[in-house]
Amino acid sequence: MNYKFRTLFWYGFLLVASFSTLWACSPVPAQLDTASPEVEPTPSEKSSPQVVELRTLIPELLTDVRYATADNFTGQVLYESDSPYLVQEAAESLVVVQNELKSLGLQLLVFDGYRPLGVQKKMWEVFPDNRYVANPANGSRHNRGCAIDLTLADSTGKPLAMPTDYDDFTEKAHADYMNIPVQQIVNRALLKLVMEKHGFTGLRTEWWHFDFQGWRNYPLLDIPIPAKD
Ligand SMILES: [Zn+2]
Repeated sequence: MNYKFRTLFWYGFLLVASFSTLWACSPVPAQLDTASPEVEPTPSEKSSPQVVELRTLIPELLTDVRYATADNFTGQVLYESDSPYLVQEAAESLVVVQNELKSLGLQLLVFDGYRPLGVQKKMWEVFPDNRYVANPANGSRHNRGCAIDLTLADSTGKPLAMPTDYDDFTEKAHADYMNIPVQQIVNRALLKLVMEKHGFTGLRTEWWHFDFQGWRNYPLLDIPIPAKD
């Protein structure tokens, strides 16, 4: 199949899958990932996980790490580096996602990955609202190196149309929000499908956020991310 037919096939499939997912959704009150109650850090077999720079595994990876700039909801620079990290196993799964997307003429664009607990504390100091920021006392799945925020881009790097911009804390960012153009629904569904196929789970309230399977087995981390030259 050429690219056009293959894309049409995928979009048709995704549209059906998207509606199926909606029917399966339960009407649980919305809660943002950053605000989700987290269990206390659990003793883990993987007590000293290593976080790896995603670019070491995906050199061409597109990124837009807004926490490394003041262009984020806190208005402050929170990271010294704009290069995202994840635990090794999650990073390896992301390589498979990227390779699968390449076969469709697409690629990933990453906003955030591992977030040191110290940064979570800074976020909380600036914005102590648990509707939007996880209390560092409990931590976020990002603090475990097991969550990633990302979207899709075409082969030229242009982001695909999605329902909202990153970190839009409105109902429109919910995974089941449907009062948007069908192309945005299809793009959102494609992101969810390819991520879930490779071990990540989406979040109902943020279309861009995915947790790596088994995140509970990884401890909260406060390993600083070094600044780039
Ligand atoms: Zn997130």
